Amino acid sequence: MDCIFCKIAQHEIPANTVYEDDDVIAFKDINPQAPIHLLIVPRKHLVSIMEINDENKEILNKIIRVAQNLARQNNIDNKGFRLVVNTGDDGGQTVGHLHFHLLGGRFMTWPPG
Ligand code: 5GP
Repeated sequence: MDCIFCKIAQHEIPANTVYEDDDVIAFKDINPQAPIHLLIVPRKHLVSIMEINDENKEILNKIIRVAQNLARQNNIDNKGFRLVVNTGDDGGQTVGHLHFHLLGGRFMTWPPG
């Protein structure tokens, strides 16, 4: 499958990995939008959050726990951060493999563009 995040998860192309286990990999975004901009990605190819169901929903719990740990490690847990899941064309999703953006290290405005 021609999926960039599958290739990163399988170490076929390099990434600046900050965490990985059997189910999840997290790495630095190649085009950071904040001082801390990490992508938290299930190894299993799920196109978007719309593919979460009763069989695979545990991955969300895992991703949230990884996000918490990465927020603590980057010292943004107290000041705050943003966890974002762009979904579909109107949601601004450009990579068709589910991923959570963890953004922090600056004040985030609202609403997003
Ligand atoms: P989306 O727009 O789908 O929510 O987010 C995709 C993100 O993946 C973007 O922030 C983009 O910079 C990042 N990205 C795209 N290709 C690569 C890559 O090859 N390596 C890394 N580390 N990030 C990527």
